[in-house]
Amino acid sequence: MAEKILVLGEVKNGDLRSVSFEAAAAAKKAAPNAEIVGAVLGDDVTGLAKKMIHHGADRAIAVNAPELKNYTTDAYQQAIMQVLEEENPSGIVMGHTALGKDLAPRIAVRKGLALISDIVSLEQQNGELLCTRPIYSGKAFEKRKPKDGHFFLTIRPNNIQALEVDENRDGEVRSVTPDIKDIRTVIKDIAKKAATGVDLSEAKVVVAGGRGVKGPEGFELLQELADVFGGAVGASRGACDADYCDYSLQIGQTGKVVTPDLYIAAGISGAIQHLAGMSNSKVIVAINKDPEAPIFDIADYGIVGDLFDVIPVLIEELKKEPA
Ligand code: FAD
Repeated sequence: MAEKILVLGEVKNGDLRSVSFEAAAAAKKAAPNAEIVGAVLGDDVTGLAKKMIHHGADRAIAVNAPELKNYTTDAYQQAIMQVLEEENPSGIVMGHTALGKDLAPRIAVRKGLALISDIVSLEQQNGELLCTRPIYSGKAFEKRKPKDGHFFLTIRPNNIQALEVDENRDGEVRSVTPDIKDIRTVIKDIAKKAATGVDLSEAKVVVAGGRGVKGPEGFELLQELADVFGGAVGASRGACDADYCDYSLQIGQTGKVVTPDLYIAAGISGAIQHLAGMSNSKVIVAINKDPEAPIFDIADYGIVGDLFDVIPVLIEELKKEPA
């Protein structure tokens, strides 16, 4: 095992985000013979670091410090740079999340590595790694090859299949305490929005509503449908601008990017800026009363009809026990 790949495990609400395990799987695809080292940063993350091993890492490093309890650019950058100095990996993989988008370019520039960001798939071709990433707001895809066998990749959540979890998988977990100083950000308080159940960016099923939902009450109907699947509710900017729901639900070019197994778009016309946030969903179902709505061009299944007639029937049918 000459090569070594460092995979960042990302902590959210006291647990590892699933993109951490997808990153471990991506590292294996990128360098099948390399040693995979998981690194988890936080204030008490030794238990979480072990999970990286259950998901494919060969060993893990728990980087523990009170300054790492909540993400700040300065603290995380210093901690991860110290791990990189010590481990000197030939590759780095992390999630293309808010944290990854902030941290990765800073590390790339300090390590002199070319960052390939927002990867949706990886493959080996003639012994070379090819990374696919969307460009032009998802209208096209490009393939990129890392240079000189060294790589730094961020992967889009929900696109790369995590390896099967194996809780008997063993490996060393080393705890380290980084030397962190000169933090310019002071976190005084974290104001969380009211919990809305499933995290939109990691949901396997998203039911999204647009201006056609007509008001906040319409979003209650969408939530009912999402609950049947154990999914999350999203929205177009049209719906957010109209104050039908919170901007945290916005999907698209200036909102969240989601790639669920199933995306149900209800009363959404399908503007290009919306498609930028959901067109990579595995199966797209559109419900719209206008048969000419552009959303039907990318939908796998289209239902032409009034969403207030269609969705209650869907809920009723889905709630029925299979015969
Ligand atoms: P509309 O375009 O008004 O569509 C409503 C749809 O509902 C229509 O197709 C209609 O036929 C259908 N409908 C109405 N009533 C019913 C009913 N009872 N049953 C079924 N169907 C019904 N948009 C985003 O979504 N995300 C972004 O991130 C985003 N970023 C943007 C960035 C920029 C710089 C700009 C300029 C725009 C951005 N937009 C974004 C806005 C985007 O261009 C569209 O205006 C927006 O997506 C439209 O939202 P909508 O589809 O809900 O509304």
